Amino acid sequence: MTNKTTVIGDMEQEVRALLHQQGLRVTTPCLLVLQILAGAKAPLSHTEVLEQIKQGDCDPATVYRNLIKLRDAGLACVVSQADGIDRYVFTRPGSEGHAHPHFYCTECEQVLCLPSDVQTLLNIEGPWVEAVQQAVWDLRGTCPACRDKKNASTRSSK
Ligand SMILES: [Zn+2]
Ligand SMILES: [Zn+2]
Repeated sequence: MTNKTTVIGDMEQEVRALLHQQGLRVTTPCLLVLQILAGAKAPLSHTEVLEQIKQGDCDPATVYRNLIKLRDAGLACVVSQADGIDRYVFTRPGSEGHAHPHFYCTECEQVLCLPSDVQTLLNIEGPWVEAVQQAVWDLRGTCPACRDKKNASTRSSK
């Protein structure tokens, strides 16, 4: 677990600076929540953030409050509402945000960012561009990892 803590240590400076910039009070739960979002490779739900915190002083309500606070400050946004669950990603203020489709895997129940080579298949032009970019766009299905697992198990059961 040493690797993981180094990564978080490096990120802490940046995250602190961002909170200052946005005029937010730098509290431990707020720092933790933002660090987890910033280090995540996929959108995270409240529960998933909570699972990663594993610290006694962060109860579910505190984590929830901080997610909302970060969202209101423009440091986090909800990019997926698959299965009625809001999932958050870290966004840098002034950046384009996180405007791309997400894929909800019904097997492992994870929400994944679609890789950019898949996204280019969905390139569109005209009046729908902005509407689609701002829409919460959840694809549902079986992710490649779960497909592989499924295929492997059907093969081995023969
Ligand atoms: Zn999956
Ligand atoms: Zn994404």
